[in-house]
Amino acid sequence: MSDRVHDVTVIGAGPVGLAAAYYAGHREASVCILESLEQLGGQVAAVYPEKHVFDVAGFPKIQAQRLVDLCAEQGLQFGADVLLGEEVQTLERLGQNGDEVISLSTRSGKRIQTRAIIVTAGHGAFEPRKLGVEGVDAWEGKGLHYFVRQKDAFRDKSCVIVGGGDSALDWTLGLQDTAKLPITLVHRRDRFRALESSVSAARKLEEEGKVRIVAPAEVREMRGNGSLETVLVENTQTCETEEIRCDALITLLGFHSHLGSIADWGLELHGRRQILVEPKTMESSTPGVYAAGDVAGYEGKITLITIGFGEAAIAANNAIARIRGEKVQPKYSTD
Ligand SMILES: Cc1cc2nc3c(=O)[nH]c(=O)nc-3n(C[C@H](O)[C@H](O)[C@H](O)COP(=O)(O)OP(=O)(O)OC[C@H]3O[C@@H](n4cnc5c(N)ncnc54)[C@H](O)[C@@H]3O)c2cc1C
Repeated sequence: MSDRVHDVTVIGAGPVGLAAAYYAGHREASVCILESLEQLGGQVAAVYPEKHVFDVAGFPKIQAQRLVDLCAEQGLQFGADVLLGEEVQTLERLGQNGDEVISLSTRSGKRIQTRAIIVTAGHGAFEPRKLGVEGVDAWEGKGLHYFVRQKDAFRDKSCVIVGGGDSALDWTLGLQDTAKLPITLVHRRDRFRALESSVSAARKLEEEGKVRIVAPAEVREMRGNGSLETVLVENTQTCETEEIRCDALITLLGFHSHLGSIADWGLELHGRRQILVEPKTMESSTPGVYAAGDVAGYEGKITLITIGFGEAAIAANNAIARIRGEKVQPKYSTD
């Protein structure tokens, strides 16, 4: 990957990044997509996958996760390279055989070379919210999980799920046929934020002995020898603690985001959280660096998916015109 120079690199695989990948691929550009999370879909997949979206043209009503699954199918059809779990940190301009190339590096040390960049970073790189337990990071890869990617990873394991939102309830229900039962669900409040129907389903499973709900409670300690074996959970009302068998602790506490190092690339900003762009081209104050979607700012900007899709098309077509030294000439996709 490191020797290859991509035509366009898209930073952020939300709906707008995937649309940018589509438009660039449609113009036969080579595309690389970098995403800090281990999943595609940006805010839509991370924050409200179960909700329905009503205002994307062509879809009178569509489940949010379904919408981004379709964006991914469309955006990746030309074979873009996708690097998940890679937060872009630095941007550097290099001269290469008379051409200017932009070099990006990620938090894990990967380097990607590219002729143009489309930043579709939304509100910034998403990171899972972590438990406020000392030494929590040390358990990553040893039984602590922030996502459920493959259900099979939890087969016959004693699972403790932490959280009160849709994801926590969805996986308490969704792992019923995989994990060792009962699955313990720990939430710091008595009331859950998740869909009422999911909470009712979990309560019913509790009656059947297939779920154990421990609330209001918090995980205070993770214990084990090399890998996780138990967690110490404290009931926050009674202050009583109990040690619960736990091969897999799945914390589903949502995400937080930060524009991070993108704010230090010397790009002119619009306010504190957006990159200032010229809306006719979506180019930033740095030539060859474009932005689209929530992260792109200009007078009168509206942060909606539909607007971002349009901006992605403008950014990709202008990036390609710049790389190829030609006029901006969008092409119809009809075949
Ligand atoms: C609860 C809720 C409901 C909403 N409902 C609607 C609605 O009904 N209709 C509508 O149009 N809009 C809605 N929105 C807004 C919509 O979700 C956003 O406008 C849209 O997600 C923006 O897409 P994006 O691709 O620009 O950014 P995002 O979806 O935020 O994706 C950006 C991606 O970039 C990644 N990233 C950021 N920085 C880096 C980095 N340095 N390196 C690598 N990756 C990085 C992030 O991890 C993220 O995955 C809603 C938003 C919320 C929170």
